[in-house]
Amino acid sequence: RACGEVIRCPYCSVSMTLHGFSSKRLLCHYCGYSLPQPQICPSCSSQRLYHGGGGTEKLQEELEELFPNARILRMDADTTGGKNAHEKILSAFRNKKADILIGTQMVAKGHDFPLVSLVGVINTDASLYMTDYRAFENTFSLLTQVIGRAGRGDVPGRALIQTFQPLHPIINQATTQFYNDFFAGEIALRKNLAYPPFCHIAMLTIASTDESVLQTSTDMLSHIMRDVLMEAKEKSMIVFGPFESTIYKLRNTYRMKILIKYKNTRNSRRMLHTILSRYDSAGNGQSTLTIDINPGLI
Ligand SMILES: [Zn+2]
Ligand SMILES: [Zn+2]
Repeated sequence: RACGEVIRCPYCSVSMTLHGFSSKRLLCHYCGYSLPQPQICPSCSSQRLYHGGGGTEKLQEELEELFPNARILRMDADTTGGKNAHEKILSAFRNKKADILIGTQMVAKGHDFPLVSLVGVINTDASLYMTDYRAFENTFSLLTQVIGRAGRGDVPGRALIQTFQPLHPIINQATTQFYNDFFAGEIALRKNLAYPPFCHIAMLTIASTDESVLQTSTDMLSHIMRDVLMEAKEKSMIVFGPFESTIYKLRNTYRMKILIKYKNTRNSRRMLHTILSRYDSAGNGQSTLTIDINPGLI
C-alpha cells in the first residue's frame, strides 16, 4: 500500500487476487498460477499490505462481521469445483440450511427460492462498463433476473442495487422492468455504432511467445489485409487496429488484435478466408492467428 505496487502474474498481464481464509494465496484467474501471500511488499518492503478487489470472499468476511449469527453460503468459482457442488449449495439454501447466499452471476440464473425476500446486487457498475458491446444487454438481463429472484413466494420481496449511476437508463429500465424501452434504446445505439445485429465483428488475434515475432507478424497481417481490401474493392469492411489485446500477455504469450466490422456477405466471408490463408502461407510458424466472430469480450 505504501508504494502502490500491485502484484502481477509473472505469465499474464493481470493482477493476482487473494484467495482462501486460512492459507492465503495469491491466484491468477487466467493461468492458475498461485503463490503464498507475501508478508511484505516485494517492491518497497513495506508491511502495510492492502488486498484490494471486491469479490465474494471479501463480501463474506463483511457479512460475517455484520451478521455474526447468520448462516452464510458462498457460490463462486472457488466453492463449485467439486462434482454436483452447484446443486449441493442451491439445495442447502433452498432447504433453509443457510440465511444468506453469496454468489457470482451464477446464482442469478433461473433458480427459484420462494423464501428469499431481499436480494442485493453489489458493484453493478463493473458489469455496466465492461469493454463489451453487449455490456448493457448483459447488465439489463442480469438485473431483471436478480430482481425476479426476490419475492417469488408469499413473502414480499425487495432488491437493492449498488451503483454510482442510479440514474443510468439501463439501471432504470431494469428496475422498472421496461423491456420495450430497453430494447428500443439498445437497438438504436447498436445501429448508430454499427454493432451486431447490424454488422458482424471479426476479431483477429495474433499471438506469440516472442514480442518481436509478434510485432513482425502483426505488421505482416496489416499488410495482407490492406492488399486484400484493395483487391476486393469491398467498402462495407472497416478495419480497426492493430491494438494490444485486453490482456496483452496471457500464459507467457503476447497478443495483438485487429477488429473488422463487415456485412456478412459471400464476398466479405471470402475476403476473411483469403486473409487467413495468405497469413498462413506467409507465416514463419512462430506466431498463431485466430479469428473470433462477434466475440463476447473485445
Ligand atoms: Zn497468469
Ligand atoms: Zn510497496
